[in-house]
Amino acid sequence: MSVLSVVLPAYNEELMIQKTCSVLRQILTEAEIEYELVLVDDGSRDRTWNEIEKAGKEDTHILGVHFSRNFGKEAAVFAGLAQASGDAVAVMDCDLQHPPQTLVEMYHLWKQGYEVIEGVKSTRGKESLIHKKCAGFFYGIMSKATKVNMQNASDFKLMDRKAVNSILSMPERNMFFRATSSWVGYKTTSVRFEVQEREAGESKWSAWSLVKYAFTNIVAFTTVPLQFVTVGGGICFLLSLALIIYSLIQYFTGHAVEGYTTIMMVLLLIGSAIMLSLGIIGYYIAKIYEEIKRRPRYIISQIIRGSQDVSEHARHDSV
Ligand code: UDP
Ligand code: MG
Repeated sequence: MSVLSVVLPAYNEELMIQKTCSVLRQILTEAEIEYELVLVDDGSRDRTWNEIEKAGKEDTHILGVHFSRNFGKEAAVFAGLAQASGDAVAVMDCDLQHPPQTLVEMYHLWKQGYEVIEGVKSTRGKESLIHKKCAGFFYGIMSKATKVNMQNASDFKLMDRKAVNSILSMPERNMFFRATSSWVGYKTTSVRFEVQEREAGESKWSAWSLVKYAFTNIVAFTTVPLQFVTVGGGICFLLSLALIIYSLIQYFTGHAVEGYTTIMMVLLLIGSAIMLSLGIIGYYIAKIYEEIKRRPRYIISQIIRGSQDVSEHARHDSV
């Protein structure tokens, strides 16, 4: 009998834990799927960990992982993948925005032999126009980088043990899970799902954290911005050629070149182009520095299985 592990990253989700666990328990039991729920508490500030411990007391299917602080969703997903022991591992949000019925559908596709089953949003849910536009720009770049249409991609997926092990074997610290799961290849298919309304609690994403997320992931996955620098340099060069020719013609035909304004404009333009380019390059250097430090992706302070504390036996580090 094969076991399905469901990884659920949770940050300040005290209101959702019990509900999510019982909904999943019910649906998976009805579908006669052997399961394990891996709840990763990403350093929540509320009572999320107490709720996970409480859930564990009632259900031995629950594996709870407690981070020493907030390391972010990607780290929580990674920790969940590392601790999961199932033959197939699914990742879903623990706010029930990813419909659990779809999970059963994914499981059956896995049984049919697919190794990576991606959840694709049929609509992006309720979002403001500016949010939509920014997301469109971000996923446009990511789609180019991965050569996979990421426009409606989500973190909701189910992967075979083989794919999970491939992801776990990647050494980089900054990983964009959504794209990595398709990067590893394998026999892939997708399932459409409707993003549900959040029942309780609130979204953990502020506008600023989304911008940071976008930058980090673009840099983690592609070097396209470095090519912007090259292209920008090329454009600047062409413009300066034109300006040089113009100035020379003016000079030889006896007209004085108009001085101050032109020089100021050129100076400012080139200056800002150089600073921008340096910024982009600097960002990559910062990321290289972060990677090269080889810090762990996350630090686990406690692991429970059911009502037992198994911190001693579990793999603690993330390497
Ligand atoms: N999450 C996390 N760490 C964080 C932020 C979020 O583990 O630092 C989890 C959160 O608990 C939820 C999932 O990631 O299970 C998605 O977060 P959220 O629902 O806030 O995002 P949204 O659905 O609004 O995109
Ligand atoms: Mg959500």
